[in-house]
Amino acid sequence: MQRSIIEIFSSVQGEGKYVGCRQVFVRFEGCNLACRYCDTENAPGAHPHCRIERQAGSQSFYERENPLTPMQAAEEINRLLAETPHQAVSFTGGEPLLQAEFIHALRPLLAVPFFLETNGTCVPQLEEIIEDVDIISMDIKLPSVLSRPVWEEHRRFLAVARRKDLYLKMVLSAETTREEFEAAIRLIGACAPDTLLVLQPVTPFGGCVAIAPERMLAAQSFAAKRLRDVRVIPQTHRMMDQL
Ligand code: SF4
Repeated sequence: MQRSIIEIFSSVQGEGKYVGCRQVFVRFEGCNLACRYCDTENAPGAHPHCRIERQAGSQSFYERENPLTPMQAAEEINRLLAETPHQAVSFTGGEPLLQAEFIHALRPLLAVPFFLETNGTCVPQLEEIIEDVDIISMDIKLPSVLSRPVWEEHRRFLAVARRKDLYLKMVLSAETTREEFEAAIRLIGACAPDTLLVLQPVTPFGGCVAIAPERMLAAQSFAAKRLRDVRVIPQTHRMMDQL
C-alpha cells in the first residue's frame, strides 16, 4: 500500500482544544468536500514529492518521491518524534479519513497518540479505524461553506466519534447565516451537548470575509445556552508564522 503525502513536519497545533501542543503533522492529499475557505492545495496527484522537515521545528525541508509506504512514512515521523517530545501525531489534509487504510497500517509503527483532523462526513471510514484514533477534531461544516448541507453525515459521524476524545470546531465568517448556525447548534445539542465546541473566526482567504466581533460573541452566547462548553479560538499558528 502506498499513498501520496503532501508534507510531514513538527509544529504547534494552532486550533481547538489542544492549541499550543507540539505535534507531528501528516498532511494527506484528497478531500471529499470543497469548502470556500479551503487553503490547502490537496488535489490527488498534485504532489509528486512529499515535503519532509529535516529537523523538528527547523522549517527546512527536503523532498521524497511520492507515494510513500506506511513504513517509509513511519520512519520520517519517528525521526521527528525522537528529536523532541510531542503530544500527538496529527493526520490532516485534505480529508485524512480518505486514507483510513494507511492510518490503520501506521498504528503499530508509531508509539504516540493519533489525532485526527476531519471534516466529519466519512462515516464508514471512521468506523473502520475508530480504535486506532485517540483524539478527534471534527469540523461542523455549514451549508454556506459548501454547495450542500451535510447534517445527516454529521449526525452519524458524531454517534461514532463520541467514543473518543472528541471536540467540535465550527468556522464562522461574515457569510454565516443565523439560520444555519442555529441549525448546527440544535444538531449538536441533540447528539452531543456535552462535547466541547470551538467557534473559530475564519482567517480571511479566497474571498471569505471575517465575521464581526460582536456577531461572534452573540453566536457564543446562543450556543452556550444550549451546550456545556463553547469557546472562541482563532487559528493561532497564523498569528505567529508557524506552519
Ligand atoms: S474539508 Fe478541509 S481540506 Fe476539505 S475542502 Fe474543506 S477545508 Fe479543504
